[in-house]
Amino acid sequence: ARNPSAPPVMTMNGHFASTGENQDFEHGVQIIDQDKNFNGNLPQYLQAERITKAGFNYHLISVFGSQSTGKSTLLNYLFGTAFGVMSESERRQTTKGIWMSKNKKEHFNERQERSMAENILVMDVEGTDGRERGEDQDFERKSALFALATSEVLIVNIWEHQVGLYQGANMGLLKTVFEVDLQLFLKNAKNVTKSLLFFVIRDHLGTTPLTNLKQTLMQDLERIWSSLSKPQGLEKSKIGDYFDFTFVALPHKILQPQKFEEEVAKLGTRFREGYVDPKRAGLVEDPNDPVLLPQYHRRIPADGFPHYAEGIWEQIDSNKDLDLPTQQELLAQFRCDEISKEVLVPFDGVVAPLEERQNNAISAGKPTVLPDLGKTIGNARQTALKSFEEEASRYHKGVFKRKQTELENKIDGRLKTLFQGQLSAAHKSGIHDFSDAVAAAVKAGQKKGGNYDFYKIVQTEKSKAIKRFESEAQASLVTGTPWSDFGSQLNLYRKELDEVSGRLRKEEMRRLATRSERWVRSRLGESVGLEFNKLGSGRGGSGAPAEGEKPAEKDLWDRIWALFTDTVSHAESRFTERARSFDASPDEVEVGLWRLRRKSWAALRDKIDEEMMEGNLLLKLRENFEDKFRYDEEGVPRIWRPTDDIEGLYTKARESTLELIPLLSRFKLSGTSAPPPLDAWIGTPPESVTPADEEDLHPIGGVDEDEGRSLDEEMTVLSDGKRQDLATRFKKTADGVYVEAKRSAIGGVTQ
Ligand code: GDP
Ligand code: MG
Repeated sequence: ARNPSAPPVMTMNGHFASTGENQDFEHGVQIIDQDKNFNGNLPQYLQAERITKAGFNYHLISVFGSQSTGKSTLLNYLFGTAFGVMSESERRQTTKGIWMSKNKKEHFNERQERSMAENILVMDVEGTDGRERGEDQDFERKSALFALATSEVLIVNIWEHQVGLYQGANMGLLKTVFEVDLQLFLKNAKNVTKSLLFFVIRDHLGTTPLTNLKQTLMQDLERIWSSLSKPQGLEKSKIGDYFDFTFVALPHKILQPQKFEEEVAKLGTRFREGYVDPKRAGLVEDPNDPVLLPQYHRRIPADGFPHYAEGIWEQIDSNKDLDLPTQQELLAQFRCDEISKEVLVPFDGVVAPLEERQNNAISAGKPTVLPDLGKTIGNARQTALKSFEEEASRYHKGVFKRKQTELENKIDGRLKTLFQGQLSAAHKSGIHDFSDAVAAAVKAGQKKGGNYDFYKIVQTEKSKAIKRFESEAQASLVTGTPWSDFGSQLNLYRKELDEVSGRLRKEEMRRLATRSERWVRSRLGESVGLEFNKLGSGRGGSGAPAEGEKPAEKDLWDRIWALFTDTVSHAESRFTERARSFDASPDEVEVGLWRLRRKSWAALRDKIDEEMMEGNLLLKLRENFEDKFRYDEEGVPRIWRPTDDIEGLYTKARESTLELIPLLSRFKLSGTSAPPPLDAWIGTPPESVTPADEEDLHPIGGVDEDEGRSLDEEMTVLSDGKRQDLATRFKKTADGVYVEAKRSAIGGVTQ
């Protein structure tokens, strides 16, 4: 598949080749075409040649020289490249624009050590034709500037017979090189490193020794330098301030092909890394010295080179002043952003699903604690930051630091949200589980008979809840970050556990109160019921009262009051004991007891009212009356005879039973003939009582002042109307019994 939008690139044969995916990098890559356009394929080329990831471990070399001086041929021999060369038969210019290729040669010495540096990139620059200047000069200047701004070594290719021809095309080119270099230095005084001008003298016959050629060339170069009109401030500068020089000569390729190849191979080994004191006089002198010295390296990381080169070319081509520091900062910004994006891809792969899970859990209202969160996101964080540092720290320090902080903030912002969400989930689910666990334990205790230790349950569940929170929070910590700390959240958590415990204890108090009330109610139901049942016996249940002893009904209320206060006091002490066992406060206990007394009184009143229901009471009065009327003093049933004083007995029994009605109608103690001291017994409301505590309480006359009812009224069991009604009905019933007795007496005689 071809990429139709990619610019066409001219091949060696002058055909346009696709720059799509299946690119043909056979001849390297054309960086700048003949129309001075920058080729966007450089990144793909570096990728294909595995240089992108090389960092600073790569080198850039350019070649200069007039057209058809064997530059491309030399590079191909030296570096195994396949730059186009002019065929011997058609003498036509071949190299157009600027081409780049990676060194394909690998030289190793006898100890198997590299004698050529890794990752050498060579730029073959279109030569200038001395005959047609003018239009070409523009490209010549631009390509020289481009090469100077990027290359460590500039190979200057020159025929031996051109040496000393000061007016030759070569010298024009060198003048251009010097001029643009000065221009570059002027703009970037502190940022431009020296370049090495590596002269290769071709077709060296050997008659003139290299030393002489070198001298001649240096003289010419100095002459050119001094002829230049130097910019202000640089008038006194020397050529050696800007360039180092080295010279080699090669034999004639056609006449001495074997020697040519031997010498080229030797020359290749000089393209290795090495150290030569930068203070040594501007020449790399020894014919075996390495030329790839650290001081020449432009320090542009390989992965940023295409962008940098493009930016520089744009500046050059639009005739703008080339400001390298700005270019480097722009490059740093661009690359740091790109690297940020790259490292965030795997980071997102880990973190985004976690964020999604957390958000879903939150919106579903089901707090979820993500397992091993700290380790997972900590690793993702570290990997991202480490890769960023690895890749981006090679760029402009200031920009790198700024972008590093930006990335850290971005990453930490997201992780912090995750971490806090995690703590809040641990908090919420912890509180929830805690209440559930307490409730479950209470339920289990109730099933086993209710004898559970509420205090212990709460303490056990609380410490479990804290341990779990701590371990979940611990597993969420992100190492190396000051923000992943859970101290204050733990405090909040403890506080809420305490609050919830308080609430649960209140509930337990309520349960305890309800149990106590129920107990009182059922006890009273039985015992008070029994007391009322005794009314049914006119002789107090067990025969006639002994001499001087009151009949049972006389002290009915005393016994009920005593029963009542005993029962409640028993319930109170059990309540107190139980409430204290789970740490209820004295206030809470006090309120609980107060409520219990009031509720107990209400229970008693209910029981009394039940007993006082008309039917019940009438039945009891009838029983009471019949007991008196139909049994003799010995408890033996009477058989009526006509002679018996039925009427007298009837009246006595009836009057005696009727006396019960006023007695029953008021709750009062026999000793004082006054109501029991209910108000004192209940006591004043405790200070800590809340409206909620009072909400379900029934008002009690004589106790609650604003109730408007007196204690006497509270103690009135039967109203006057009811009393009279009851008496009337009772009399009717008694009359019935009397008539029946009468009849049976007469009937007995008849029989
Ligand atoms: P470029 O334009 O400088 O790249 O030159 P080329 O490499 O295309 O070569 C131009 C011509 O010079 C070709 O015909 C080569 O065969 C020839 N040539 C290459 N190297 C040498 C050399 O060392 N000596 C001589 N005499 N000719 C050479
Ligand atoms: Mg060429």
